[in-house]
Amino acid sequence: MAIGDGKKVVIVGAGLAGSLMACYLADLGYEIHVYERRPDPRKKGYVGGRSINLALSARGIKGLAGAGLDKKVLAEAIPMRGRMVHPVSGPLAFQAYSKNRSDAINSISRGGLNLLLIEAAAKRPGVKFYFDQRCLDVGLDAPSVTFKDQRPAEEGGAGLTGRVEADLVIGADGAFSAVRARMQIQDRFEYSQSYLGHGYKELHIPARRGRSGPEFAMEPNALHIWPRGGSMMIALPNPDKSFTCTLFWPFEGPHGFGNLKTPEQVERFFKGNYPDFPALSPSFVQDYLTNPVSSLVTVRCAPWWTPGSKPRQITGGVGGTVLIGDAAHAIVPFFGQGMNCAFEDCTALAECLKRFGGDLTRALPQYGEDRTDNAEAIADMAITNFIEMRDKVASRAFRAKKKLEHALHAILPGHFVPLYNMVSFSTIPYAEARRRAQRQSQVIQAVAIWAGVVVGGLALGMLIGRLRAGG
Ligand code: FAD
Repeated sequence: MAIGDGKKVVIVGAGLAGSLMACYLADLGYEIHVYERRPDPRKKGYVGGRSINLALSARGIKGLAGAGLDKKVLAEAIPMRGRMVHPVSGPLAFQAYSKNRSDAINSISRGGLNLLLIEAAAKRPGVKFYFDQRCLDVGLDAPSVTFKDQRPAEEGGAGLTGRVEADLVIGADGAFSAVRARMQIQDRFEYSQSYLGHGYKELHIPARRGRSGPEFAMEPNALHIWPRGGSMMIALPNPDKSFTCTLFWPFEGPHGFGNLKTPEQVERFFKGNYPDFPALSPSFVQDYLTNPVSSLVTVRCAPWWTPGSKPRQITGGVGGTVLIGDAAHAIVPFFGQGMNCAFEDCTALAECLKRFGGDLTRALPQYGEDRTDNAEAIADMAITNFIEMRDKVASRAFRAKKKLEHALHAILPGHFVPLYNMVSFSTIPYAEARRRAQRQSQVIQAVAIWAGVVVGGLALGMLIGRLRAGG
């Protein structure tokens, strides 16, 4: 008998995490109903509210592999092997992410990936999708969800609300989760949300016309970054040979979004601060004035699960409600890990269900215990990485530190692994990666102090020698 035999799961949200989770649960034999507030992207195209492309790395690849989808996704991805730094003046500088040439993060289309996941889940037996259905409320005692049908009248929508019961309700409905909102009003539920003083806006670099068709206007196998101390722009390549650029600027202040209001101001500002950009992006002034500014939120909460209290007539179990992906842990995007972490949640929840033979009273607490500290760790590291990307990557001290890290990694591969590599190219749990990085950082500091003492000692010795020789 399959683990999920006869048990019904309702997933709220057919985004990246919800659709992958549906694949995993279908493979375990559950009956799955996925409710999504947006229209069906298979019919109407992807209507996304977020960035156009994303960086997929080891954890996300492992998550996709668990559903047999990694190769298909990677076939469409563009590997990025390092950062290409664009200074205000002077030449571009490439900084490899790793000493291993095969280590890369992969630029993928968010809309394309979401569509692929929905199609993969919909093909599996036992999975049904319902689009244009907004979750309004959730029942926790007897796990259930209330939806509003938002389909247009010509598609049969009448704006009605309906309620569905399930053994397990999964909140995969993103950073502003309706499922989490219901869990929040329970006694002793921990919750915090904080916004950065920076927002983001997307711009575009089109493909340029080459001799044999469209070609990339910049090096495609790199994440391009324009660090400007306190703010920055990045660009990731797309398969159509364009780049999607994202400005991460403060809302206010001299380098802030609020400061540029007219086409002349925008043009002058970019020419002064991002001088190579206007030639790459002919429509940047119009894009800047038209495209929205979105905010960047970190959400932390615990516990990620709530047991039901009323046994379900059909299965006799009390069931439960659980959060995955951004609903459980929205993080800022500076380590490129939000989706990767969400896919790791899917793997972890499926593994807990397998380990406990589908017993939710044991699987859900174990999942929460396994994941919460790791989500906390990556949330903190993502904020720290923002400071590194915008303020430090262009500095000599930073480049020297990276070189030293790569050298130590090459000499002591089993003992010294730079933090970036542990986060992006391994599946070492985030919390463990952070602890190891703290220990390694102490070693680097000790090496630097030791080197300083030795060099200082030698210099002092030479000076004393010269003074003596000079009489
Ligand atoms: P979402 O993708 O937000 O999906 C939630 C789904 O739930 C949506 O389809 C939504 O319509 C639906 N929904 C919401 N409310 C309801 C409701 N009430 N009823 C029904 N349905 C509902 N991550 C990376 O790993 N790498 C990156 O390079 C990266 N870059 C990023 C860049 C930016 C600018 C941003 C903002 C984020 C980035 N992320 C990145 C993070 C990544 O986008 C998220 O972590 C990821 O989308 C989380 O997936 P999710 O399925 O949990 O949530």
